[in-house]
Amino acid sequence: MSSVEVTQAHLDRMAAVEPAVHAFLHVDGERALAAAAKVDQARAAGETLGPLAGVPVALKDVLTYAGAPTTAGSRVLEGWVPPYDATVTRRMLDAGLVILGKTNLDEFAMGSSTENSAYGPTHNPWDLDRIPGGSGGGSAAALAAFEAPLSIGTDTGGSIRQPASVTGTVGVKPTYGGTSRYGLVALASSLDQPGPCARTVLDAALLHAVIGGHDPLDSTSANAPVPDVVSAARSGDVRGLKIGVVRELGGEGYQPGVEQRFREAVDVLAGLGAEIVEVSCPNFAYALPAYYLILPSEASSNLAKFDGMRFGLRTGDDGSHDAEEVMGLTREAGFGAEVKRRIILGTYALSSGYYDAYYGQAQKVRTLVTRDFESAFAQVDVLVSPSTPGTAFRIGEKVDDPLAMYLNDLCTIPSNLAGNASASFPVGLAPEDGLPVGLQVMAPPLADDRLYRVGAALERALEERWGGPLLAQAPELVVPAVAGGTK
Ligand code: GLN
Repeated sequence: MSSVEVTQAHLDRMAAVEPAVHAFLHVDGERALAAAAKVDQARAAGETLGPLAGVPVALKDVLTYAGAPTTAGSRVLEGWVPPYDATVTRRMLDAGLVILGKTNLDEFAMGSSTENSAYGPTHNPWDLDRIPGGSGGGSAAALAAFEAPLSIGTDTGGSIRQPASVTGTVGVKPTYGGTSRYGLVALASSLDQPGPCARTVLDAALLHAVIGGHDPLDSTSANAPVPDVVSAARSGDVRGLKIGVVRELGGEGYQPGVEQRFREAVDVLAGLGAEIVEVSCPNFAYALPAYYLILPSEASSNLAKFDGMRFGLRTGDDGSHDAEEVMGLTREAGFGAEVKRRIILGTYALSSGYYDAYYGQAQKVRTLVTRDFESAFAQVDVLVSPSTPGTAFRIGEKVDDPLAMYLNDLCTIPSNLAGNASASFPVGLAPEDGLPVGLQVMAPPLADDRLYRVGAALERALEERWGGPLLAQAPELVVPAVAGGTK
C-alpha cells in the first residue's frame, strides 16, 4: 500500500469513530496526505527511507508541531499556534512519519482519565462509558480504536503507561533524558518524558529509535546512545533474565483480576526461562505523597508563564483593567479546577516557612525511592508490577475525588521520581469486567532495551495463548478494523 492509501484509511476511520471516541483535538487531513504523497514520491524515486517512512502517527497535544494549534488541553492556550517543532516532532518528520493530528489529554497533562481536558473527555474504545486513562488518553484511545497505528505520549507520573494499561496497548516511558523535552509544554520538568505508544512491542521500539537520543536543545538530555530497543524487541529472549516482583506494589486495594493476570504473566516469563524473585522497595509507599508535592511545586512555577500576555487566551483587556488584573482574570477563566488546585498546592509547598517541611522533605523521599531502585537493580535485571491497581473506571466515577484519582499512579510514579525506564504491556482481560490489564516493567536508567525484551517475550507467548492480539477481543467498535490482523 502507498502512504497516501494508509493515511487516507486512517482519516476514514477517524470520520467513522471520532464522534464516539473523541481521541483528537485537531486533525489536518490535507497536511497529512501531502506529507504522505511526498514519501510515496521519494519511494518511487528510489530514495533510501527509514523503516517508519510513510507511517501515520498521532501527537499528544502537549508537544508543538509548527503551524498546528497546541492547547495542552487547556482553554488558556486556545488559539495558540506555535511557530516551531518540538524535537520529537522534528525527528518524526525527518524520518518521514506522517502526523495525523493532535490528541486529547487532561489539561496540562494533570489527570488519569482525560476528564480534565477543557475540550471534553476521550472515551475508551473497549467501553465508551469508561475512561481511556490519562493524561494521554487520546494517544492511547487513537491506537485502540485503530485511528492511528502509532502515537506519542508524555509521562510525568504515568500518563503513557496508565492509558496503555487500560486500553490494552503498549506504552513506554524512556529513561529521563532519553527523549528530548524541547517543545514540550512543561508540567514538571524533572519528571516529564515523551515516549512511544503503539499496538505492538516492535512498533513502539521502532518509534522509540526515531525519537530518542541526545538533543543539544534540552539541557537535561542524556548524552548517551539510544539503547538498541529494536533488536531487543525482535529478540524477546528472557532466558536467564532476573526479574524482581515488587512486594509493595500489590495486595490490598488492587483489583483481584488485575493481580490474577499479573501473576499469570509472571508465570509465563518464568516458563520462558526468566528467574523470578521477590524484591522489597519499602520507600515506594511514600512515592505518591512525595510526587504530589514535587509535581505541583514545579507545575506552579512552569504555569506562571500563562498570563494572557504571551500565549493564547486574554481576558478582561477592555481598558478598564490594569495588566495584573488581566493576568488574574485570564488565569481565572483559562485554567480548570485541577490545574488551580495544583498551582495553589505547589505555591504553598514552595513558600517561605513551608519549603523545608514540604518540598524539601519530598525531595529527600525522592532520593530514598531512587536508592530502593538502586539496591533492587543490584539484585535483578528488571522489576515488574501491575501497571495500575485497577482496570478502566467509569467516566464520572472519580472526577470529584482527587485522592481516588491520584491512586491510579501508585505503581508508575516511582520510575518518574527516580528517572529510570519503564513500560506497560497488555497481559489480558480482568475476569470480573473483561477489561484490559497491563504489566509494568521497570529497568535501570539507560537500559530501556530490557523493557522491550520482556515486552516482546510476553507478547509472543500471550498471543499464542489468545490466538491473536488482545485487541482482537475488543467489542464491536474496534473489531472491524482488526479483520486481517493488526500487524
Ligand atoms: N496522573 C498523573 C497526574 O495527574 C500523571 C500525569 C502525567 O504523567 N502527565 O499527575
